[in-house]
Amino acid sequence: MAPRTKPPLEEPPVDERVHAAITSALLQGKLAPGAQLVERDLAAAFGCTRGTIRKVLTRLGFEGKVTLAANRGAFVPSPSAHDIREVYRARQLIEAGVVVALCGSLTVQQKRRLRAHVKSEERALKEGSVEDCVRLAGQFHLLLVELAGAAELQAFFAQLVAKTELYKALFDPSKGSNCASDEHSRLIEALEAADLDAALAAMREHLAELEDRVLARADAKGGTDLVALFGGA
Ligand SMILES: [Zn+2]
Repeated sequence: MAPRTKPPLEEPPVDERVHAAITSALLQGKLAPGAQLVERDLAAAFGCTRGTIRKVLTRLGFEGKVTLAANRGAFVPSPSAHDIREVYRARQLIEAGVVVALCGSLTVQQKRRLRAHVKSEERALKEGSVEDCVRLAGQFHLLLVELAGAAELQAFFAQLVAKTELYKALFDPSKGSNCASDEHSRLIEALEAADLDAALAAMREHLAELEDRVLARADAKGGTDLVALFGGA
């Protein structure tokens, strides 16, 4: 192995670095659904101990980003079409309620926040940052829930969004974002115009399109070489 130079003081702890690298690979669709995250291979790739890898995989499991199987290890989630439909169904029901709550009642400041967010999505798309696109697209929907004042719902809804971000990354890695910013703009316009039918349709069609794209590729399969993927990290 090549000698390692001493890291500068500001470098994040190794477990944070490994966590960020695996999360990033997941959100960019670089890991195949069902692939095993082998401790030994990851430890070799990152040049750290298996204990560090185990700690990171446990954290990713709590975050719902990987599946932990007792005595078998950690795996990239491999949801069935049924699992995927269930999660999008939950989003459809919740976000229809959010649209009803917000339609025609957005304050000037709230409109400004939504518009500014869409601008940042457009910027990330232009810069070609897949990870930022996915993160910002999810945050748009979280912002709507926040503006609707549904604090009790936020933690649960964040998990649903995290799942759909992962599904998109696993099965539809071809595009930068899981949400088109013009679809978000269309929704904002309908909310501002207090046109409830148009706003509900915009949200319903938007989520249905995301679901269709994921389902169309949900049978994708393949292996991942962990050493090749993370070896240079
Ligand atoms: Zn969206």
